[in-house]
Parts: sequence; structure tokens; C-alpha cells
Amino acid sequence: MPVVDRNFLLKYDVRAPRYTSYPPATHFSADYTCDMHREQLIDSNVRGDKNISLYVHIPFCPVRCLYCGCNQEDLQGRDFVSVYVDTILLEIERVAAYIDRDRRVTQVHWGGGTPNSIHPDFIEKIMLKLREQFSFPQPGSKEEEIEIAMEIDPSIISLEKLERFRQLGFNRVSFGVQDFNLQVLEIVNRRPSKIPIPELVAACRKMGYRGINLDFIYGLPGQKLENFAETIDLAIASDPDRIVTFSYAHVPWVKNHQSDLEKYVIPSADEKLEMFLMSLHKISHAGYAVIGMDHYAKFDDELSRARENGKLHRNFQGYASRETTGQVYAFGCSSISQLEYSYAQNVKTSREYVARMNESEFAIEKGIVLTEQNYRDRAIITELMCNGKIDVNHIASITGSTREQILNYFSELVPQLQSYVDDHLLKIDLPDKIEVTKDGWLAVRSIATHFDPLLKNDSNRYSKAL
Ligand code: SF4
Repeated sequence: MPVVDRNFLLKYDVRAPRYTSYPPATHFSADYTCDMHREQLIDSNVRGDKNISLYVHIPFCPVRCLYCGCNQEDLQGRDFVSVYVDTILLEIERVAAYIDRDRRVTQVHWGGGTPNSIHPDFIEKIMLKLREQFSFPQPGSKEEEIEIAMEIDPSIISLEKLERFRQLGFNRVSFGVQDFNLQVLEIVNRRPSKIPIPELVAACRKMGYRGINLDFIYGLPGQKLENFAETIDLAIASDPDRIVTFSYAHVPWVKNHQSDLEKYVIPSADEKLEMFLMSLHKISHAGYAVIGMDHYAKFDDELSRARENGKLHRNFQGYASRETTGQVYAFGCSSISQLEYSYAQNVKTSREYVARMNESEFAIEKGIVLTEQNYRDRAIITELMCNGKIDVNHIASITGSTREQILNYFSELVPQLQSYVDDHLLKIDLPDKIEVTKDGWLAVRSIATHFDPLLKNDSNRYSKAL
């Protein structure tokens, strides 16, 4: 576990992107057209990772949590859900028409919204279409080696549904628990799990799910250090493979419904820091490795092994091992495709998405084609954020640059990094590598900002890490 110095955390808790993409989504532009996207899809067959990751976005939720910061919508009647699902099938066919069949699917991720809010028959329909249009491993062969994951609201799940999802090929689950305290859940308009979480985790494991994850949020109204500590104790006692503790971002000027929470006491920045440190302490002493700022995984989990071997990767869907991730082809409203040299985001709402797909080939709202510089900076930031190390030879080889070009670039940046070196958070061993120390891991987002030339004068658009 990193040695945590409270003062260092505060000193380096800067406003910065989460770097789930680079450039961040705030740099996507409406100049990115359907024609450009078609070219990028074709190009993705010959440049970059051959592996294919598929993402399906279901925006619907039965109730809205007051802390929600996602692109979500109220659950619609079966007729409209059916239209939305049929539109996803159409989008899958249109995208797959440009993708070489010799490229294999290695990862499928369902997110939202709440994917399990729609009937499993709809989920089956989409899974069958994905299998028809893309190359999956043959059933019974390497099927279990690919990752098929769903984000699940535990208040509306049953063991029967989980069995059904297993039959459809799902082998990873992530439950949005957020808190075990019923008063906190009531304040934020979130319902508790239908089945006690420890039973749910055990049942999923018995069904063959792996990488079972529980999500929590700290900084919600009604939370205190003591009651959130009880939640973390219960989380650990539930024995999941992974735990995530997200920091609540209170931005009512962006998400109006969050202002309903202001009649309650929202924990201060200092209280949030205490909750974060308490969670870090408890979870890392309970046999979990620290994967990212607020992600933890058991030492024998594939994420911990990937981190250990320098093969951890990160995208909008979260962390994964480099073997399972690939270029991401995304389906559904507001979803973001992440190709080797571009990002493309669909229009935000389900109705716009259906209308746009009827009018044109794709439903792209905005995107970006990466410049060579963006590509180099993404490689550096991703290595830093995932594996805590920038190896000069490795970066030169994946970006097609020479060692000298990378070293020249670093020579301009090194003076800015001196305070991290002085605080023993970073080791600079050039001409070979720059490495985050064990203690520096919690300042990694701050370190990454120095390798982000787009951030200048732009940092106020982002929240702090804690
Ligand atoms: S379930 Fe998730 S997406 Fe839906 S309202 Fe709650 S936080 Fe938002």
C-alpha cells in the first residue's frame, strides 16, 4: 500500500481530466462527420490493435439517482425500447460492414443508464446480432477468455436474470451499490439491493462470473466518516474481486437535479479526503491491490496481474488488461467509439439517436481525429496512468518516433517535474524511463497533467480527483 501523506494529497489534488480518453471528450468537435467516421472505421482494420472491443449503451433507468452525472433517461415503455434496440441492431450492421472478419472480439461491455432495466429478450437480441456480425471465439473454445461484462443495478436484479445473462455469455458483472446505509440511499433516491450483496456476490461466483465488482461513492449527503466506514467494512465482507470508490462530483450547474441534494449536508472536501483515506487503508489492508486512484482488485484478479506485468489499459469502460482491450466500436445513444486514431460520440438522447439513424448512415454528434502529437501524448499518459511508468523505448516503438525525439520532448518537461522528484513521488531515470514511486501513485493524475499540452488554460473545466 502507498504511504499516504495527507499534505501531498492536497498539494497534488489538481483539477484535471480523468484521462479515460486523450484528448478528453471536451475536445471533441462537431466537425467530425459521418464520412470521416466511415474512413476511420476502414482505417481501423489496418492501423492499430487488431482486437475488437464492443460497447452497448442502454440509457434507461427505472428511477433517477439524485447524484447522477451520466447520460441517462427515464425507462420507456416496451414499444419504444423495442425501437431503440432495433436501431442498435441497425447500427451494428452498418459498422460491422466495414470491419474485417479476421479481427476477433476480445471484450464486450454493456453500460448505461441501467442495462438490466430492459427485458433480457432485448439483451439476447443484441448479443445475437453482435455474434452474427463480428467474429467471436467458437462456443466452447476460447469463449471464456474474452470478457463480456454488464453494469448492473442490484435493486432490480434476480438470480434468474443473472443465470440468463450467463447463458448469453456474460462472465463479468459490476454492481452499483454506492452505499449500504439506507438513510444515505434514501436521500440520493437510490434503492438498496433486492438480494443481500454478500449473497449476490457468492451466487455470481457460483454461476461462473469472474472479476465481480462493487461500486461505491463517497462524498454523498448523509455520509459521515463513521457510517461510510461501516459501508466499506460490509463491502470487504461481501468478498468481491474488485471494489471501486468514486468521488461524488457535485455540479448542479451542469446536472440540475443535483441541487435537490443541497437541502442536506454535503460532506466538505476535508471530510471527503478522510473517507478516501479510510477506504484506501481498509481495502488495501484486506488483501486488495491499489489499481488506480480509487480502484482496487484482489491480488489474484486479472487486473492486479495486468498491473504487475505492466499490461494494464484504460478506456471509457474502465480498466482492463491489454490482452482483452482493443479498438472500441460503440453502439447506442451518447456512446463513444475509440479507434486507433479517432474518437466518435453519438448524439445524446435515444430519440435523437433513432431519428438520426433513420436519416443517415451513423448517428455521430462529434468526435476528433488524433494528430501525431495527440497520439504520442495519449501513449505517454496512458502508460503513466495505468502502469506508472514511461519507458522511452516502448513509447518510441508504439508511436513510430525515434528515441531522440522522445528524449528531446522530455527534456523540456523534466524541470516541471522536480517537485515530485523532491517529494519522492517520481523517479527520473533518463535516457531510459520515468517512473512513479509507490508513494507517488496517488498523485499520478497530477503528474499526467505535465504531459498534457492541451490542458493549458483549460483546467477549470475539470473536477479535482478527490
Ligand atoms: S442508475 Fe446510474 S445512470 Fe441511472 S440514474 Fe442512477 S447513477 Fe444515473
